[in-house]
Amino acid sequence: MRTLANHPGYQLRDDAAESWDRFERDHGKHQVNSAFRPQSVQNELIYRYDHPRGPQDRPPNLYKPAKVSRHTAGVAIDTPNAKAVANISGAYGWRFLFEYDAVHLEYDPAYDRHKGGTATPTAPGKLAEDAILGQGTIRRMQHDLGTPEDGKISKASTMVGALQRRLNAQGFRDWDGRPLKVDGKGFNQDGKRTRTVYAFQKYMGVKPDGILSKPRSATILALQQRLNRGHL
Ligand SMILES: [Zn+2]
Repeated sequence: MRTLANHPGYQLRDDAAESWDRFERDHGKHQVNSAFRPQSVQNELIYRYDHPRGPQDRPPNLYKPAKVSRHTAGVAIDTPNAKAVANISGAYGWRFLFEYDAVHLEYDPAYDRHKGGTATPTAPGKLAEDAILGQGTIRRMQHDLGTPEDGKISKASTMVGALQRRLNAQGFRDWDGRPLKVDGKGFNQDGKRTRTVYAFQKYMGVKPDGILSKPRSATILALQQRLNRGHL
């Protein structure tokens, strides 16, 4: 972590801090209301949101704090009118991702076009650990499961079918203790409870509730961390 040049008291991961400083050097200082947050602070925000003692108890500009937040990784900043800021900061890797969170920007070095004057893609094969089941993560799953690598999960997905077969073969069961039906369905980040997600969570060693929550999922984060270490 590194303290921001223009914002004493606010820290970010080294590369994110370097990028934000560079953005402000080129385009002027912007208001920063939050940056890196230790997990303890994040937990406190979640508590204050879930147990409000009145509106004054919620910090200004606080939207529902995510259980899996990029603030705890030091790659998120809260700034007013984030969407407008992102028109410029986007080329520095600072992107506006969530319409419902109007103050929130996140840094991804893959989009940081100004770094060293050239594009700097993320290290080959490294997935962003953003807890979102996106194209890159799906592609890596497809690669490891030996199915076509199109980065998409279709309605009846070959990749999900292969995943179901693997879970069955390795003895991971649904909540009734039964093998999964191999139908290629039920693995989407849509907040719905499915048997496939439940068995997959047991496979990943995370608490099984059968749900890949939106917009971020602790299960997908664990999956990305595992893929970055090696294989599914
Ligand atoms: Zn935020």
